[in-house]
Amino acid sequence: MLSPTSQQLVIQKVEQCFDYANERFNQHFDLPKISFKQRGKVAGSARLQSNELRFNPILLQDNLDIFINEVVPHEVCHLLAHQLYGRVKPHGQEWQALMIDLFAVTPKTHHNMDIQKVAGEVFRYYCQCGTLELSIRRHNKITRGKQNYICRKCHSVLKIAS
Ligand SMILES: [Zn+2]
Ligand SMILES: [Zn+2]
Repeated sequence: MLSPTSQQLVIQKVEQCFDYANERFNQHFDLPKISFKQRGKVAGSARLQSNELRFNPILLQDNLDIFINEVVPHEVCHLLAHQLYGRVKPHGQEWQALMIDLFAVTPKTHHNMDIQKVAGEVFRYYCQCGTLELSIRRHNKITRGKQNYICRKCHSVLKIAS
């Protein structure tokens, strides 16, 4: 099970980010409500209207560093961008500028973590580059003959390995 310290560290990091933003912008941003009930393959999400952050407790278990260094600043910047600029693109220039200027984090939208635990069943396929895993959704499309997947690197059609 998830140790209480991981969640505590995430909450602390959110508070730190807000303290820092308050100082840098010389204004008071309202601390969000924080919960750990994000489901699915998503690491976290920001609800702008209700000023709320949700984090994925299952992904947090194995990826504490990524949460502290990337996921928390990423989601906090969504809330800050909303409070500062109102309606802007989710990963637009305002959000990107906050990531870089405020937190010195590369503004990427994808976190490099193992989502296998939350991804459901996966199927092993192979091409000339090696093996890779496809979701059940893709696998079903292939077995129903609706779609072939071609490797972007070697351009060969993926074949099932097992
Ligand atoms: Zn985002
Ligand atoms: Zn390949």
